[in-house]
Amino acid sequence: MIPVTGYATHRVAILGLGRSGLSAARALREGGAHPVCWDDNPEARERAEDEGFEVTDLLKPGAFDDIATLIVSPGIAHLYPAPNPVIAAAQAAGIPVDNDIGLFFRALAHGGWQDFDTPPRVIAVTGSNGKSTTSALIHHILAVSGRQAQLAGNIGRGVLDIDPPGDGGVVVLELSSYQTELARALTPDVAVFTNLSPDHLDRHGGIGGYFAAKRRLFAEGGPDRAVIGVDEPEGRFLAGQLSEGPGDDRVIRISVAGKLTGPGWHVFARKGFLSEYRKGRQAGSIDLRAINGLPGAHNHQNACAAYAACRTLGLAPRQIEAAFHSFQGLPHRSQIIAEAGGVTYVNDSKATNVDSAAKALTAFRNIRWICGGLQKEGGLAGLGAGLDNVVKAYVIGREAAGFALQLPSIESEVCTTMARAVARAVEEARDGETVLLAPAAASFDQYDNFEQRGTDFAQTVLAHLADRA
Ligand code: ADP
Repeated sequence: MIPVTGYATHRVAILGLGRSGLSAARALREGGAHPVCWDDNPEARERAEDEGFEVTDLLKPGAFDDIATLIVSPGIAHLYPAPNPVIAAAQAAGIPVDNDIGLFFRALAHGGWQDFDTPPRVIAVTGSNGKSTTSALIHHILAVSGRQAQLAGNIGRGVLDIDPPGDGGVVVLELSSYQTELARALTPDVAVFTNLSPDHLDRHGGIGGYFAAKRRLFAEGGPDRAVIGVDEPEGRFLAGQLSEGPGDDRVIRISVAGKLTGPGWHVFARKGFLSEYRKGRQAGSIDLRAINGLPGAHNHQNACAAYAACRTLGLAPRQIEAAFHSFQGLPHRSQIIAEAGGVTYVNDSKATNVDSAAKALTAFRNIRWICGGLQKEGGLAGLGAGLDNVVKAYVIGREAAGFALQLPSIESEVCTTMARAVARAVEEARDGETVLLAPAAASFDQYDNFEQRGTDFAQTVLAHLADRA
């Protein structure tokens, strides 16, 4: 745990008692503060009481009279579509609003750094897609290279639950736009921006607000190095704003859309090859096609981002390449679960929207595509060229027939259940093909979450393959 100092003897209000709220309460108590907790859910309040925390309704009159700050969980709206009433009350009373990420950076700033030979470093990763994969990949590369590394934030442990980083230690943080928007301190040493596509727009009042939330990671603390995906206008704008001129190598631009040239620092992937250029000269290259855990252009973007972040810490290209080879991928994200009879089986259950399914469809060839579920707004139009790689679709979900009707350009079969879809796809798949679960839909019509759906797919595939063996 990282004790939060700076609030000793003060009362600190905490709204939301999920994982991050409770860990903030514990870290504040450890630092000598007195947490005052609230959650609309009675069970969550009970859990806090069981740990000995004071639970007080923060909407009662005068609740903020002697409160130093309010700490809010990321799931609670602080601005759009409308601020939560407790947050509005804190603001009306002039109380600062913060979150666990802000507390973490403040605590680290008071960490007695003069005692370290090599001060700890923080790498923070944000972006619309690929945050988890990129963060996990950076952590993996550091760990196999013998660095002391911890993974936290949206992935791994809660940010205040990690161990205080030691000499030369690195903390890799995955940060969502909700977190970067609210944190009052945001001072990573290296900040990474993978890409931008519309998401969570209700919480940010549109794409401009969403981008502004992510941009704070770069604007607030002034990281030593910024790794920025420049395949969208927002990334190009951000890189341009941060750099002092063409040769400024505080900014590392990354791309999977084309070759990057110029005297600065660039990492890009083309036709499956990653290249690093610095001051106009090639500094490294890696054949990504040979790396099973990172299939497709979208994962090559993640590879470029992770490579660049690790290079800023002084790792050699060959060390990074070796670590790429042992990266297994994250569960449910373009994860190869089996290879049998020349057929590859891939679980991308996390592709809950059309955008991420489209990326998965372009990452593989000759696809027997398991898709369908609870559809999101906007239909399937955005699947685009990825459909050219599909041999046949096997449609699941309660509305499978309606989903199949939206795929007139490809052959499809209404299967409704995962059991039937897997059975049919396994039966029909030929040498050189890929059976891919990338639903382009949420899972809630048939499953509790995308993890459960992906696990069902993987277990069903493995059972079929065992029967055939
Ligand atoms: P996040 O943490 O940002 O949600 P994940 O790494 O969990 O990102 O991936 C989420 C989904 O997006 C998965 O379906 C994955 O295959 C896809 N994806 C991963 N990396 C990228 C990327 N760089 N660009 C677009 N889609 C991606």
